[in-house]
Amino acid sequence: MTVLTQVGGVVWLFYLIIANRTRIFFRGKKIAQHPIVKSRIGRIALHFLGFFALYTLITFLIVPPLAKASGRIPLELKASENFPLKPNNRLFCLANRHYVTPRMYATLKDISNDLKTNYSDFQIVYLDANFPFFDGFPLLPHLSHNDGRKLDIAFIYKDIETNQVSFGKSISNLGYGICESPQKGEYDQAKICAEKGFWMYSFLQKINTRKKRKTTLDEVHTKQLIRKIIRHKNVKKIFLEPHLKTRLGLQKESKIRFHGCHAVRHDDHIHIEI
Ligand SMILES: [Zn+2]
Repeated sequence: MTVLTQVGGVVWLFYLIIANRTRIFFRGKKIAQHPIVKSRIGRIALHFLGFFALYTLITFLIVPPLAKASGRIPLELKASENFPLKPNNRLFCLANRHYVTPRMYATLKDISNDLKTNYSDFQIVYLDANFPFFDGFPLLPHLSHNDGRKLDIAFIYKDIETNQVSFGKSISNLGYGICESPQKGEYDQAKICAEKGFWMYSFLQKINTRKKRKTTLDEVHTKQLIRKIIRHKNVKKIFLEPHLKTRLGLQKESKIRFHGCHAVRHDDHIHIEI
């Protein structure tokens, strides 16, 4: 729970204390004889519901003000007129993986609103950001997402049959692992990393096994999005797989870097750092 959500482990300990106190309080009372409480499955279900209720309460009511006091704020749960940005999946937010510094928040607001002036239905879809607390606490499997200044966002996709761009839609619920792999003749960094023994490099591709696709990379709009990101003064660098940097004609852009074989591949999302 701590690895996945940062606060989940602490909430679990807190829940155990409350559950124990509750059990002592109700001992000998009529409700303790109820068939649901007496059955093993019933008790597991009650514990699950109790923990989930406490976790949700703490995640959405207690964590945000505490995180704000320590320098991080949550990204939006849904896109709005004045901030066209949304999570790929709200489970990212339920897991407290959507925190950034106020400076990153402002940067994203600038970029998304800037693109919205060109495309009225434009939205940035974000994936993993950072946990709410403590610099240096990594958000696995992303080693560098540990200080509020990193964020992954989805590419822009278009329908394979109609060529219609679908702003605000990612390619899978996980958001990672559906890769725009190197085509014939393109530089294959993933293969090179695999040959060097870095099995983690394509790990997310292996766990997201959905192969049938209705959409494909919209190169025109994804390139515009990347250009807007790297032109922003706050953005220091972004990570993108080398073959996509070439395919999109962005070879001269010095802010687009290769991340190294020890990271995960970046032909399924864009990694931003400020
Ligand atoms: Zn990242």
